[in-house]
Parts: sequence; C-alpha cells; structure tokens
Amino acid sequence: MSSDAAKVVALFGPPGSGKGTQAERIVEEFGYTHLSPGNMLREEIRQGTDLGREAESIMKAGKLVPDSVINPMVAGRIRQELAAGRRVLLDGYPRTIPQAEYMETALREIGSEVSVVFRLEIAIEALLSRLLGRLNCPKCGAIYHEQSKPPAAAGICDACGTELVKRSDDNEASVRQRMDAYRQQTEPILDRFAAQGKVALVEADRSPEAVYADICRRLRGAA
Ligand code: AMP
Repeated sequence: MSSDAAKVVALFGPPGSGKGTQAERIVEEFGYTHLSPGNMLREEIRQGTDLGREAESIMKAGKLVPDSVINPMVAGRIRQELAAGRRVLLDGYPRTIPQAEYMETALREIGSEVSVVFRLEIAIEALLSRLLGRLNCPKCGAIYHEQSKPPAAAGICDACGTELVKRSDDNEASVRQRMDAYRQQTEPILDRFAAQGKVALVEADRSPEAVYADICRRLRGAA
C-alpha cells in the first residue's frame, strides 16, 4: 500500500492508548485531515450549541453519544474532505457496528473505503495514570501529561500559548465506563476490519516516537 492510496485511515485503541498524540504527528507529516468526533463534540460544548448541550452529560458519564447524532456529523465531513481531494484520519470513529456499517455505505457510494486500521494495543492497567494526568489544549489540540510530558510553562500550551484544560471525562469513573464501551461496542468492529485484512497491530505501551515509527512504516508501504 502506498501512502497515495491510503485516503481513509483509522486509529483504534482504548481511551489513553495515544490516538490523539499519534494523530497530531500523522496530520503534520502526511497532511491528513484529522476527524475526531470527540473533538468536534467538545467544540460544540464550548460554543454552547444544542448539540453540545445534548452531548455534554453523556460524554461526562463516559457513555457513547447516539449513532443518530454521530453518523451524519462525521460521515458528512468525511465525504466533504474526500471530495475536496484531502485524505482523512479517523480518530474515534466508527465506534459501534452500526457506525461502521453507516460509514461503509457512505464511502461505498463515492467509490471509497477505509484503507488501513491501526489497532493500538495496551494493557488496561497502563491507561489510568495516562488519562488522569492528561492535559489538553482546547485551541490547537496538543496533548500533554502532568508527569511524562509537562508543558514548558505550567498550564500553558507550548504550541499556541492557550491555557490547558483537563477533560471533564478524564476521571476514574468515566474512564472505566469508556473502557467498557470500548471493549463491548468498539472492539467487535475490529473483527470486521480484520476479516478484510485491514488491521495493523501496534504495540502502544512504548514511547510515542516508537509507536509513530511503526505507523509511518505501514503508511509509507514499507511494512
Ligand atoms: P474521545 O475524544 O474520542 O475520547 O471521545 C470522547 C467522548 O465523545 C466519548 O466518550 C463519547 O462520549 C463521545 N464520542 C466520541 N466519538 C464517538 C463516537 N464515534 N460515537 C459515540 N460517541 C462518541
């Protein structure tokens, strides 16, 4: 697979497995458009829209927002980006079997499909501390960690100078709920992609650089 052929690529992994961090790098190097429904919904919440209000309590509880809300929001964006000749990196979509079916149909209608799915694998025990110390930039999406990747000035984004925030769902109760949602609703999708030979396993309990090197190799078609 050459990088030219990889028009739609998806990142899968439990919360805290590093999808967002890897997405930042992939976007920078390969020029993909990063589509994360989590980021889109957090932006709706920040802007106080009806959709944001509907999603806020669901997200805070670590549950999944209904497919009927997510599907048109994300599939519409994917089609727009592809129509404009851009490549798409999916981070957090699809997350349920009905979402996977909806997306497949939407892509098939325009003669497209997902090229490769990166499955970030990491033991659940390693995830809690990653998530509880996480700091996010609400403006540019950069991700930090209180211990393992602190910003140069406490609480301020190195990249754009914005005040960093903790996600309201990065607390222990929500994290456990999000992990259950991942295991029960999202992992079954991977069997579907595996049957199509599209899953690339990536050991994610390593440095972001090592994880990224594996992803790059596959994206460049060298593996
Ligand atoms: P994330 O930023 O990907 O960790 O997503 C944060 C939260 O947004 C999730 O826990 C869900 O409440 C919601 N969300 C994100 N993506 C989806 C999706 N594909 N389907 C349903 N809910 C989602």
